[in-house]
Amino acid sequence: MKTKNIVLLDPLTYLRGSPGHYHFVRDWSGARLPADVCLAPLDLICVAAYLRKHGHKVKIIEASIKHIHHPALVEMVKIENPDFVLIPSVSFGIESDKLLSSLIRASLPDTRVIFSGALVTYDPGGVLFDGSADFAILGELEIPLLNILEGNYGDNVAFLDGKRNLVKGERRLLDLKELPLPARDLIDNRAYNYAIFNRRNPITAMALSRGCPHSKCEFCHTNLYTLGRIRFRDLEAVAEEFREIAFKYKIGEIFFRDQAFTADREFVFKVCEFLISNRIGISWRAETRVDLVDKEMLRMMRRAGCYQLSFGFESCSQKSLDFNNKGISLEQSKEASRIARQAGIEVVGLFLYGMPGDTRETMGRLMNFALDLKVDYANFEAIYFMPGSPVYEKMLKSGQVEFFPRQLLKKYVKRAYAGFYLRPAFIYKNLIKMFKNGSFLRAGVTLKVLRGAFSFFLSLGFSPFGMFSKKKRSE
Ligand code: SF4
Repeated sequence: MKTKNIVLLDPLTYLRGSPGHYHFVRDWSGARLPADVCLAPLDLICVAAYLRKHGHKVKIIEASIKHIHHPALVEMVKIENPDFVLIPSVSFGIESDKLLSSLIRASLPDTRVIFSGALVTYDPGGVLFDGSADFAILGELEIPLLNILEGNYGDNVAFLDGKRNLVKGERRLLDLKELPLPARDLIDNRAYNYAIFNRRNPITAMALSRGCPHSKCEFCHTNLYTLGRIRFRDLEAVAEEFREIAFKYKIGEIFFRDQAFTADREFVFKVCEFLISNRIGISWRAETRVDLVDKEMLRMMRRAGCYQLSFGFESCSQKSLDFNNKGISLEQSKEASRIARQAGIEVVGLFLYGMPGDTRETMGRLMNFALDLKVDYANFEAIYFMPGSPVYEKMLKSGQVEFFPRQLLKKYVKRAYAGFYLRPAFIYKNLIKMFKNGSFLRAGVTLKVLRGAFSFFLSLGFSPFGMFSKKKRSE
């Protein structure tokens, strides 16, 4: 088998009408990162290790964290002259990613361009028919990328045949035991620093599992990638990776990308016991469901270095939660937040505006619900329905629920962020926290925070002058 040369990109994203560029997590979530932070590209270092194991040459270009704009990025790709380039696209940045593809194609006509991402998985034709991509990946990266490099356009790959008909391979999931340790030697680990809200730098991304035990929430992209299943890695591989992160790369913190970190209670205890008994000494944060935590487990996690947990509370309306098969109650949300804080773990609340079943009245109450839950931080998003997704079809058919205009949802999001983060109590508490955890002592941190917060609020549509203008006040 001939060795192939592939470049994996983690590009910047230009949003239409935006003044700058944004960092997105280019994985199943496609999440936009708050402030001026960037997360190590876990999907890319996992697939890089897998492709190298199979004899291929892999390079990762971290354009996002390095602020490399598209033209300079293309010059860097040209130097590699690869057989293939991967653009892991994000739904909101698809036009930006297509622009990048056109620049690469103009400079490197013999290089084949591959797109991946949630939108591409739903609608591979969207990047194939307009010539943005030669291949589209359906779901996770490992199996289809290896297939493409080895000329086997089968499982998890979509492409156009000679008659320009769309051909889609069968979907198959990788056994996570086949994964080598992520190729952290291919990235600049020390570049991934958060300015605030974390304990130590640098910070990396890691996962114990892929998938979610619930896998039923209608708005979630997880199922698209993991086909409704959850798979776990071996404890030995996880332990080896912890040692590598802490002692080889001297990384101080881990951001777990598991969709539901506490899905397997016994596994969580084993992982925590390993971290404690081997004095790994790493701070970490994770995300899970409110119905998958209990006091004993949370105390154990805290002892093992967990300082922050994100919960997908989503809505303050039981009707919306039920309509979307979230499978949790408002009481469970309150209890999870309470016992996590009691265990000494900060709580990040994830909230959605415009869920099927929401009304203007429930959306008007959502920010106050976040305050009632006493979450330390909150992430407010306007829901995005991909055409063709089950929830989109269900909403169209049901006629019982409202589609809200995107501009209206953005207004709610904007108000919620302002209402939550511009509270004097929040600012005071976090200034104290920053002094205590030494954030202010980090070089350039204050500037970075201010710049990040400014660009984030700007991206939501805040105008630094218009915010306080007469016109705005009268709205
Ligand atoms: S619990 Fe979370 S990860 Fe699981 S399906 Fe629902 S939203 Fe997705």
